[in-house]
Amino acid sequence: KAKSLVVANWKMNKSYVPGIMLLNQIISTLDPLPEGKEMVICPPYIHLQTAQTLAKDRFDVYIGAQNCHVQKEGAYTGEISAPMLADLGIKYVILGHSERRRDFAEDGKMLTEKVKQALRQGLQPIYCFGEPWPVRKEGQAQAFVEQQLQEVLGQLDAQQMERIVLAYEPIWAIGTGQTASPAEAEEMHAFIRAYLAKQFSEDLAQKTTILYGGSCKPSNAAALFAQPNINGALVGGASLDAEDFLAIVEAGR
Ligand code: 13P
Repeated sequence: KAKSLVVANWKMNKSYVPGIMLLNQIISTLDPLPEGKEMVICPPYIHLQTAQTLAKDRFDVYIGAQNCHVQKEGAYTGEISAPMLADLGIKYVILGHSERRRDFAEDGKMLTEKVKQALRQGLQPIYCFGEPWPVRKEGQAQAFVEQQLQEVLGQLDAQQMERIVLAYEPIWAIGTGQTASPAEAEEMHAFIRAYLAKQFSEDLAQKTTILYGGSCKPSNAAALFAQPNINGALVGGASLDAEDFLAIVEAGR
């Protein structure tokens, strides 16, 4: 059965002291989660080391990064590599977020290489994808998503796939307050799982964690998590408030 995760993506928010305070508040308040459930926090790079220390003794809380560079090391000013993250003990790395596709021109080819690099370093990629509004309006959302899956996952073998977490984030739902309805999200998640069964195996499809992201908040989390093919959430805005984020985690308990 797929593991269920609630993942915080802080994006470019929280400088040092407020960030550490938020981490502390979240981690110290959380009652141990049942087996098969994890909380993951992906803060900006400056917090990673402290975050890692705060989460070190928790079997149910893990830390992730929001990106990594495709190369292992070298003359790439301003970048952070997958080995650097792995060396800190970081477990997850978000790759392919729509904001990076849009602002840093990350495409399927580059993301395939990033995913492979992250896997080589022992990190678990959280691969994000999702359609923009005009594509959904035209009835092409599934075809668009299948293309984003195929161009990256199509390059991986079953063993690599076992270490991948997927996150469906329809662009029109990100930061807009306009969540996909539980039925809309479930329809896409079922489609994604069917794609995995066809491309890899039914067993792998059942074991893969598929998260939903896009205006997930305490008021809609439970209804989303009640869907059979939704294994948790990737939370942006609502993860910046300890109470809201913990309420979402509780909804998935
Ligand atoms: P919001 O929860 O702010 O809509 O952001 C979703 C997201 O992009 C998480 O990666």
